[in-house]
Amino acid sequence: MQSLDNNALRKAMSARGLKVTPQRMAIYGALLSAGGHPSAEEVFGAVRRVLPNVSFDTVYRALLSFTELGIISVHEAGGKKRFDPNLAGHHHLHCMRCNRITDFHSPELDSVKLPPQAGKGFQVLSMRMTVEGICSACSAKNRGRNGR
Ligand SMILES: [Zn+2]
Ligand SMILES: [Zn+2]
Repeated sequence: MQSLDNNALRKAMSARGLKVTPQRMAIYGALLSAGGHPSAEEVFGAVRRVLPNVSFDTVYRALLSFTELGIISVHEAGGKKRFDPNLAGHHHLHCMRCNRITDFHSPELDSVKLPPQAGKGFQVLSMRMTVEGICSACSAKNRGRNGR
């Protein structure tokens, strides 16, 4: 995973005109420590371990600012925003049951070209494939329930 260390984070924020505050640093750190692609609620839970008085609103707004600045990215899963600190080009497996998103890498997918008609006049900045399905943990649970 390619994320920012504290120095790079400070630089990225100030270069884009976002004030560097201990709170914002802690929110980014909590996003990393939450692991995977946490929802705002999950990041909030992790931030509160470090900053017990922080409000959900502050955490949510910081996450949206990071997204606007391109420091992190955001994806929808199960009607919820999921925040992704991985800046390296990658693709997603999305479990439709538990809404877990897992990263994977594929040079083949990275080099996929759009059909000429679809891509006409459109400047592609990034392309990410989301594969929807059922993860192995959910499949195993399902097998258990059916007694098979
Ligand atoms: Zn699952
Ligand atoms: Zn991801």
